[in-house]
Amino acid sequence: MTPLLSRIRFRLRNDFQLGIITVFGAIGVLAILPFSLLRFAQGNALAGSVDLAVACTITGAALYAWITGKLERAGLLISVCNLLGSVLVELLLGKTGLYWLYVALLANFFLINRRAAVPLAFLGIVLAQMVPGAFESAVQRASVITTQLLVALFAYLFAHRTAIQHAMLETLASQDPLTGARNRRAMEQELAVAIAANQRRPRSLALLLLDLDHFKQINDRYGHDMGDQVLRRFVALIQSHTRACDRLFRYGGEEFVLLLENTDAAGVATVFANLRACVHAELRVQNAPVTVSAGAALLAPGESREAWLARADAALYRAKQAGRDRLELAPSPAASA
Ligand code: GH3
Ligand code: MG
Ligand code: MG
Repeated sequence: MTPLLSRIRFRLRNDFQLGIITVFGAIGVLAILPFSLLRFAQGNALAGSVDLAVACTITGAALYAWITGKLERAGLLISVCNLLGSVLVELLLGKTGLYWLYVALLANFFLINRRAAVPLAFLGIVLAQMVPGAFESAVQRASVITTQLLVALFAYLFAHRTAIQHAMLETLASQDPLTGARNRRAMEQELAVAIAANQRRPRSLALLLLDLDHFKQINDRYGHDMGDQVLRRFVALIQSHTRACDRLFRYGGEEFVLLLENTDAAGVATVFANLRACVHAELRVQNAPVTVSAGAALLAPGESREAWLARADAALYRAKQAGRDRLELAPSPAASA
């Protein structure tokens, strides 16, 4: 498979909203284009042009989403175009436009945030009522309003459930179930994002690798459940004593990674000194103190995630060798070369 195709597949698999815009957009365009050609063939150039304009706008918005990543804006453009296109078709061809409005009402709840889709749905339903001569009787008008409202309501409920389940899945995929810290998978993604951002706008980015000291002894002496409890309390302690922008990940077992934005060597030392003091004061197992060792590394220009973590790991190893309950800062790659 060519690199471009595999990149497209990767983005479609990993970006739910981009997938929706692409699939809905492609199906919409394929469904609308034959009608556009039919209208031109029937000599109705105006209706054919409206269909063609809708198909072109959807294609343009989907391309815009792919190129810029501005999915909300692209989704909104497609939604407004769906809605106005249906009302225009109703104006030109009567009831036919109403059928398209049902499709637009349904699709819009998936293309944009459902809270934005609600007023848009009402706008479409009201505009559809204002087209002169579209209805033969009051009963027909009432049936159309009722069925359109029901379609919008069902679409809202379904989109709402989908959004909740999507959020739940994202949490499950990125959170460590024992401690609630972000998991290793999330760490790998967020470190890659932080490194890429740092290449565009360099600033001091620190990684602190924390490892509880003699943790095996806690398990052996007090049981595995107590060990689990210590891990949970340790995470809660770190989260409550760090800035909201600092990110904590469970790297594995009793090892954690703390990613610190805009933090230099002096900043890392201060952060660790504070955490160490908190752990001394608040984390005890049946009155026995718990301690933590750490290795820190500042991201070097052009450094990979693996090399950055390896430097922090080597520094942690030195902290353990030097007697534990302390921080070691990794030398920069240039200095250690
Ligand atoms: P050091 O000071 O050198 O880091 O010693 P240590 O005992 O902390 O390190 P070691 O790697 O020998 O042991 C880590 C222990 O952590 C062993 C493993 O059973 C325990 N562990 C790993 N994950 C969990 C967990 O989820 N819950 C509990 N209770 N224990 C865990
Ligand atoms: Mg340990
Ligand atoms: Mg360890």
